[in-house]
Amino acid sequence: MLGMSVPSGDRYDALVVGAGPSGAAAAYWLAERGRRVLVVERKRFPREKTCGDGLTPRAVRQLLDMGLGEPLSEFHRYEGLRSMAHGVTLELAWPSHPVYPSHGYVVRRRDLDLMVAERAVKAGATLWQATEALEPSLDRGLVTGAVVRHTESGTTERVSARYVVVADGANSRFGRALGTARDRSYPMGMAIRGYYRSSRHDDPWIESHLDLRDREGNHMPGYGWIFPVGDGTVNVGAGLLDTFTGFKAVNTTRLMEAFTATAPSYWGISEATATGPWTGGRLPTGGSVLPKTGPTWIVAGDAAGSINPFNGEGIAYAYETGRMVAEAVDDALEAGDGLALAAYPERLEAVYGLYFRVARLFVKAIGNPGVMRELTRVGFRSRTLMEWVLRIMANLLRPDELGPAEAAYAVAARVVAALPEP
Ligand SMILES: Cc1cc2nc3c(=O)[nH]c(=O)nc-3n(C[C@H](O)[C@H](O)[C@H](O)COP(=O)(O)OP(=O)(O)OC[C@H]3O[C@@H](n4cnc5c(N)ncnc54)[C@H](O)[C@@H]3O)c2cc1C
Repeated sequence: MLGMSVPSGDRYDALVVGAGPSGAAAAYWLAERGRRVLVVERKRFPREKTCGDGLTPRAVRQLLDMGLGEPLSEFHRYEGLRSMAHGVTLELAWPSHPVYPSHGYVVRRRDLDLMVAERAVKAGATLWQATEALEPSLDRGLVTGAVVRHTESGTTERVSARYVVVADGANSRFGRALGTARDRSYPMGMAIRGYYRSSRHDDPWIESHLDLRDREGNHMPGYGWIFPVGDGTVNVGAGLLDTFTGFKAVNTTRLMEAFTATAPSYWGISEATATGPWTGGRLPTGGSVLPKTGPTWIVAGDAAGSINPFNGEGIAYAYETGRMVAEAVDDALEAGDGLALAAYPERLEAVYGLYFRVARLFVKAIGNPGVMRELTRVGFRSRTLMEWVLRIMANLLRPDELGPAEAAYAVAARVVAALPEP
């Protein structure tokens, strides 16, 4: 166990369930404000988490804000996205932006999550690893903490806290026990990844493929990626959304088989260079999990369905929502009233509401393979157009100037705002 312990029988200000990006960020920002925080993490660090390991400028911004610029600079930095479709390749550098840096990183989650959890502990949070939150504790209908099990000793104990932060990831068993549910009308992603040894492991571009085909050349719904990790390996993956026509007929393993067989040969992807088995997971998008708060609990990251439907990016949104959760809990502690948590869903709506609605409409439209093909065909003819698309999809629009991407987005946003809820 790391960090200070509160004497047993005492109450923490906050119990955070899960020490992935959302839980570690919530713990860091609460500890920064002098709050007594306990984070319980089922696994022991360093632990694997199935992911593409890609950090966009939004994620980098959050890591810099947590004071992690120096350790982050040890990892593989990249400059932008190499996007490929219909035989056309476009290298699109991250745009300049007043708030976000113009670069990203690729960091294996076993390293990234350890780094942020350690940062939270350094800020004053207590971390119990190999400790699983089994179920919420209730007192007269209010959540007052959780029963936790130390998985290595097998012992259980009850932890008391004024507020409970649910940050237990996409499956969110703890959240479901509190009554959260995913709205199935929102897009849900499914993706799979594996690592391969590659001489191009330190390529300065992450690569995405938007027209996947099987070995016979037939189009498949989905996309593929190759993200250079800079440690001798590349992270290779494939994914699709449940809004894609025919998604039920294509599982992610089939998609990955097709992608690894057809990916550019310069990456050297083959059975011989694979370093381990493929693993997959689900990506709940668009803020699809509700409710976001109860009287004494609050949900962040994948447990709240926070992934960007445009590009499957979830780490930045986990850090951001973890930080917003910390602010709401801090305000509730200050006010001595859980009603202050209600500011959190309002904040989510203000920051992501319209953007996520536009994204949901967009991914519904590209679910039609004809629309997707036409859009990529037209888009790939114009670098400028694809630069806009990258900005929109990575949520890197500039607040200070109305460039072409902002103008295109503003038009789309106005249309979406006028439509009924998708
Ligand atoms: C194949 C794939 C590729 C992806 N690629 C990218 C990418 O390249 N870039 C990107 O930004 N996003 C990517 N994502 C999404 C990203 O992985 C998630 O959005 C992100 O991990 C969410 O962080 P989180 O903290 O909310 O949840 P998680 O990272 O899932 O963390 C939850 C933590 O809670 C712990 N936990 C769970 N239950 C309990 C319990 N009861 N008690 C204690 N601890 C518990 C878990 O062990 C885990 O450590 C990808 C996802 C998948 C599946």
